[in-house]
Amino acid sequence: MAEETLFTKIIKGEIPSSKVYADDLVTAFKDIAPKAQHHILIVPNKPIPTVSDAEPCDEALLGHLFTVARKIAEELGVARSGYRLIVNVGPDGCQEVPHIHMHFLAGGNLGMGGFPVKK
Ligand code: AMP
Repeated sequence: MAEETLFTKIIKGEIPSSKVYADDLVTAFKDIAPKAQHHILIVPNKPIPTVSDAEPCDEALLGHLFTVARKIAEELGVARSGYRLIVNVGPDGCQEVPHIHMHFLAGGNLGMGGFPVKK
């Protein structure tokens, strides 16, 4: 059996994290090395390694990541002021953890392009 990903261990509570949201399909927790005032990872509970490994049957699940992002934005009060969603894919995309995840970044103007540099 394939080894569990770091994020699967976090989802199962085997590794501590600061969870902000969880349902049957998705778990969201604070990034351990935040690049913005609010930096949250939104992760499907199903351990799909990368977007390139996603299949048509994953479409609704991956769409749900956006719904959860919207809920988090509303809770943080940034739904209208704005935020950034990033999905890194594979080595050239600088994806470190091989378990699809959406970065949610918010807190002031994030500037143009890529990850903001935290002030
Ligand atoms: P990526 O480069 O897109 O794969 O992003 C992986 C993210 O996971 C990075 O922003 C890391 O800071 C974050 N990360 C790594 N380990 C943990 C952890 N134990 N808890 C929360 N976030 C983590």
